[in-house]
Amino acid sequence: MEECKKIWGILLLGISNKISTVSYDMWFKNLEPLTIAYNKLIIVTDLKSAKQTINKNYRNIILEEIKNLNSYVDDFLIITPDEIPVYQNKIEEDKKEEKTESTNTFDPNFTFDRFVVGSSNQIAYAAAKAVANQPGTLHNPLFIYGGVGLGKTHIMHAIGNEILKNNKKAKIIYCTTEQFVNDFIDSIRNNKDNEQNRKFREKYRNVDVLMLDDIQFLAGKTGTQEALFHTFNDLYQFKKQIVISSDRHPRELTFLEERLQSRFSSGLTVDISLPDLETRIAILQKKAFYKNVNLPINVVYFIAEKFDKNIRELEGALQKVIFYCQLKGQQPDNIDIIKEALKDDIDVSTHILSLDSIVDATCSYFNIKKQEVIGKKKLKQIVQARQIAIYLINDMLGVPLATIGSYFGGRDHTTIIYARDKIEEMVNTDPLVANQIKDIKNMIQKK
Ligand code: ADP
Ligand code: MG
Repeated sequence: MEECKKIWGILLLGISNKISTVSYDMWFKNLEPLTIAYNKLIIVTDLKSAKQTINKNYRNIILEEIKNLNSYVDDFLIITPDEIPVYQNKIEEDKKEEKTESTNTFDPNFTFDRFVVGSSNQIAYAAAKAVANQPGTLHNPLFIYGGVGLGKTHIMHAIGNEILKNNKKAKIIYCTTEQFVNDFIDSIRNNKDNEQNRKFREKYRNVDVLMLDDIQFLAGKTGTQEALFHTFNDLYQFKKQIVISSDRHPRELTFLEERLQSRFSSGLTVDISLPDLETRIAILQKKAFYKNVNLPINVVYFIAEKFDKNIRELEGALQKVIFYCQLKGQQPDNIDIIKEALKDDIDVSTHILSLDSIVDATCSYFNIKKQEVIGKKKLKQIVQARQIAIYLINDMLGVPLATIGSYFGGRDHTTIIYARDKIEEMVNTDPLVANQIKDIKNMIQKK
């Protein structure tokens, strides 16, 4: 809430105890706090008569209440709407401030629990967790770098969420580098007003944790770099945690002052790289779970395989699929509808190899129903077709074993390894099987 509203609320409580209900309703109820300027609370009324009456009869009561507040506000001023433009600048500043304040809260979806760990991010994850559990002592600063949409912001919010979970009173500032720069520019623009300068310093130096996201946007901002350097030193000296993210390694931030660059590298630097297929599958599954959407494994695989550069895009694809299926009143349970939903994002014109296409070809080759191949039947002929399908998927797609397992009705990965190894051996020893494999491959590729 804006500060002027908070203050006015408290004042009204005190005033209402001191005057009659009739007078209160007549003169005070319709007043609106506008802003605080030069330590004065500015209040608006539509009635000229209210302005006069309050100044004449209630001024002392209000001043007394203001005094009781013990804040930097020490006076008030009643104005009429035609005087509002005088305060326009101040009102806009208030709005801006409120905006930066509200971004200090962390996204509840961005927690460690909801972050899928894989080889591309496990070191960053471990470092972030360590920092969240012992801010300021282990790795300071923590510098996280990696490409767009790979989870940097998610991890920073997770640090914030975790620290606040352990200590509700922790003072944490998370801000984008852009916000930091704007804040700094505001503070010099109002240079005459030392108040603003002091506010900037106090805001960024009186914290337990400072997190700056996307530091590469500090390019060319010499003044802000200087301010950040001093802020950094103050925080560091008092063992306050600093976390920074960037799209590149500190040594590649060549547009930064050297002293900043070397400060950034002085703690722990970790990277997040492109997630492998297995991680992408796990991320999609987690996101679908939290969106309450049931996605069969072949669909998950299909999407995860296509979006391999950026997790935000992977998530966007999921969102699109969900939306499209809702619109069509269908379930996202087969590849055809997924292809339709994503036709603008992926190339669907060429034949797309998928778990389904391989299993379908195997089934039609052996003339067996898909249900049976995927199911639990132990008939020799079906078992062999199943093992051949597993071998082919592994050979042609490079799908994680666990994914193949869940596609085949929740079999565990040792069963999959067994099937794969068995057929692999047969390919080398049994010409019949070797030929079957060749034929099915041909069928798949001709499709
Ligand atoms: P960056 O800041 O690196 O550009 P974000 O942190 O904004 O990327 O991540 C983009 C999206 O991808 C977010 O919705 C985030 O939740 C998701 N995401 C990234 N990495 C993971 C992960 N390992 N597990 C779950 N979700 C992830
Ligand atoms: Mg980000």
